[in-house]
Order: sequence, then structure tokens, then C-alpha cells
Amino acid sequence: MGDQFVEKVVAGLQKRLRPDQVSVHPAERLVYGYDATWAEGLPDVVVHAESTADVAWVLRIANEMEVPVIPRGGGTGLAGGAVPITGGICLNLARMNRILEIDPADGIAVVQPGVITNALQKAVEAHGLFYPPDPASLYMSTIGGNVATNAGGPRCLKYGVTRDYVLGLEVVIPGGEVLRLGGRVMKDVSGYDLKHLFIGSEGTLGVITEVTVRLLPRPPALGALAVAFDRLESACEAVVAILSSGILPLMAELMDQEVMRAVEAFHPYGLPVEAEALLLLAADGEEEAVRADLARMVHRVQAFGGRVVRIANDTKSAADLWEPRRQASPAIARLAPHKLSEDITVPRSRIPQMVRRIQQIARETRVPIVLYGHIGDGNLHPTLLCDRRNPEEMSRVAQAATQIFHAALELGGVLSGEHGIGMLKQDFTPQAFPPAIIEKFWAIKLLFDPKNIMNPGKKLPLPGSWI
Ligand SMILES: Cc1cc2nc3c(=O)[nH]c(=O)nc-3n(C[C@H](O)[C@H](O)[C@H](O)COP(=O)(O)OP(=O)(O)OC[C@H]3O[C@@H](n4cnc5c(N)ncnc54)[C@H](O)[C@@H]3O)c2cc1C
Repeated sequence: MGDQFVEKVVAGLQKRLRPDQVSVHPAERLVYGYDATWAEGLPDVVVHAESTADVAWVLRIANEMEVPVIPRGGGTGLAGGAVPITGGICLNLARMNRILEIDPADGIAVVQPGVITNALQKAVEAHGLFYPPDPASLYMSTIGGNVATNAGGPRCLKYGVTRDYVLGLEVVIPGGEVLRLGGRVMKDVSGYDLKHLFIGSEGTLGVITEVTVRLLPRPPALGALAVAFDRLESACEAVVAILSSGILPLMAELMDQEVMRAVEAFHPYGLPVEAEALLLLAADGEEEAVRADLARMVHRVQAFGGRVVRIANDTKSAADLWEPRRQASPAIARLAPHKLSEDITVPRSRIPQMVRRIQQIARETRVPIVLYGHIGDGNLHPTLLCDRRNPEEMSRVAQAATQIFHAALELGGVLSGEHGIGMLKQDFTPQAFPPAIIEKFWAIKLLFDPKNIMNPGKKLPLPGSWI
């Protein structure tokens, strides 16, 4: 945007917002140009919203002046969703970080979008309640960002993803209209379910300003297993066998040898780095049921050559056993100058095939690919290690990523299980959806956002590019 136009936008915003909520300072603009990917952009203006009324004002001015708005929570996204590639207004929701209500009688909590995921979990646990969605970024990501990306996490194998816990949303759409969708009831089939359109919409329809979530009773006991395998494929086969034998673990996570080595170099946990793969499994519930589930899982993994290297029978040691998995992403970041973390999901019976395909793609393209992920969900994070300053290497990385996407789609899977499409995968959506579906996506988008100001250039392929 030109300087004079930016001045006009700022003047419009400052009619209702304090000067310290609206910044054009170059350093601040720079800071808000990134998320957790390598993508970068530069917003023209950064706005720190403190209330729904602030958000409504921003969306009124932005709509009138046709300025892009890029909502931002914790900036931990892995698809470039919060990166302001078009310039415009970075709308930071981090200051809207109050837990408004925890109601054990209704089994709900009402929060502002900037509440950090772990803060909500801790707050409800004090009431003996449980908010299951647990993205590995839970100490940094926000509930608003989790809803906008429909975040998953290890516990989602048993309990489902963010979507399964959202009962109500308050959203603001371009023009500044405030919509309250859903509410605090457990069941609701009145009207069209507009709330679900906003879950996973990656900031392309409107801004989430309040979230009502469903809570569960806190499970009394937690137990976990760490199992080493000499063959990566055996670990994958063992998971499929566990899941098809009537056991539903709380979590089933995979790390390959390179990931284990990276984590061990980051912090020595004593992982079995000589093994080709590590499977982390967990169970929760009543103490006896947890022990029984762990015993059944031990029996299953042993049939596939798994060696149990640790068993944790209480909550504290189970959480410790789990800690290395949370460190996987930052540890991998130290392996190469850059990394591209993918997020494909396949039907779980196809996991062994998908892993073989990834290994083959790594060999053929000569791109080092390390592998970890929520294997119980079929959601894998093949991570491509590279140096963006090397164009030849980057063309092989692009080839490898494309082949991974094709393989996932061929196996009946999807491009992204939890990180979203953002700006990094939207070119592949025409391969994932027929034109008639993409047209309907755009019809929905334009219904809420006729001027396409909400996070433009994200999630959906550009109009016409899919025909
Ligand atoms: C180390 C690490 C581990 C991770 N592990 C997981 C994992 O296990 N599971 C998982 O699902 N993801 C994971 N992620 C990805 C990321 O943390 C999630 O996508 C998370 O939900 C993003 O939340 P955020 O608050 O950081 O959102 P941001 O990155 O700020 O934004 C993400 C998207 O949501 C939109 N958005 C944000 N807030 C709002 C709002 N209030 N209204 C409308 N749109 C909004 C943005 O425009 C953007 O498109 C991980 C990331 C890192 C860095």
C-alpha cells in the first residue's frame, strides 16, 4: 500500500483505537511478518485488538477501504497462514487473552481467542476438568489459532480434534457484523451449522473473537510405553494391529531414528537411538483399565518385534516419557538451515505404504526426509531438510514435496491433517478437490467476505486457477 493510503487507513483505525494499538513502526511490522514456516511478508499496519468492538471496527474500516486483514494468534502456524503476503493489516489477537468463564455444571469454558492453549488446559484442570486438544505447540499457540486451523495433537487419537470441542463461536465478519454461532449446549441441530465453517477456515472468512469449548471430566490415571523397533515398517504395522484389535490408545506417536537422534542431541533423554523407530503409546482412564490397556499393547507390539524400553505407570512419569515427542519439531530445526514440515494424512491401514513411499521419494530425490507424527491418526510429518540458499537442492525439495502429496492423495489421504493449507499448499488443492467443490468453497468465502479482504491468497486456489 502506498504511504498516503496507509496514513488514511491508520487515521480511520485511530478514530476508535488508541495510538498504542495501531503501529506502523518498521521493527514491529517486521516482527509480525512471519509464522513458524520460512514464509515471510510485511504488514503495512499492525493492530493489537483488545475487544470484539476493536475487531469489529478494524473489519469495518478494512472492508470500506478494501484492505487485507490477516488475523494472528500465536504465530506458530506451519502453513504460512498468518504471514501477511499481501501487506495490509496484521490483526493481532494475543491481547484478547482472558478466560471468561469455566462452568463445571454445563461442562464448558468460554475464552477469548488469544488464550494460550496450555493456559486453558491448566485452568480447567484446577476444576477437575479436561480440555483434550493438545497441539505440540500448546505453550505458544492460541485457542483462536487452534480453532482457525482445527488443530490436532497426540491426544486427538482418542478424543478427537479441536472441532470436536467447539460448542460456540463469536465471529466478526468483514463490515464489522458480529455473529454468535452455536452456544453452550451439547446438542444442536437448529439452523445450518455455520460455526463449523469457521473452524479450520484459517482466517479467510472472519475473525474468531470468543470460543465456547466443551470440557470432559479429567481422567484419573495416565500410563505410557516407549517401544523400540529395528524396522520402521514394523512400528507402523504394530500400530495398525493395535488399532484394529479393539484397543484405542490415548496417543500413538512415531519417531524415526534421525528424529530420535536429533531430540537426543537437543536434550539427552536416553532414547534408544540405535533402533530404526520409536513408538510412544499411552492410555488414560481408571488405573486398572490403564494397566490392562498397556499390557495389551505390550503384547501386540512384541508380535511385531517391538522392544519395550520404558513403561510409565503413573501420570508424572508418563508425562516425562512423553516429553521427547514435544521436542521433536525444535530438535529437527537444528539439523539443517531450513526444514519443510509436511502434514499429510492417510487412512490408517495405509500408513505402512505411505511410509514406504516417503522413503522411496527421499532416495529418488536425494532429499533427507525425517519422519515423525501422530501415526495413530494416519497423520505423518515427513520433514524435508534443506538449505533454501541452494536453488538446485530446492528444486529437488519441491519435487519431493509434490510426490509426497500425490502419494497421500493416491492412498485416499489428504494434503493436511492439522496444519492447514495456508499459502504453502494451496497450489495442490485443485488436485485434491474437483472444480465443482472448489467453486462452492469460493461461493462460501464470498458470502462472508465479498471483497476478499480476509487473509487473501490463503487456503483456496486463486479464482480460475483450478479449471
Ligand atoms: C513446535 C510446533 C509444534 C506444533 N504442533 C502442532 C500439533 O501437534 N498439532 C497441530 O495441529 N498444529 C501444530 N503446530 C502448528 C500450529 O501450532 C497450529 O496450527 C496452531 O493451531 C496455530 O495457532 P496460533 O495461535 O499460533 O495461530 P497463528 O499461527 O497465529 O495463525 C494460524 C492461522 O489461523 C488464523 N487465525 C489465528 N487466530 C485467528 C482468529 N482469532 N480468528 C481467525 N483466524 C485466526 C491465522 O490467520 C492463520 O491463518 C505446531 C507448530 C509448532 C511451531
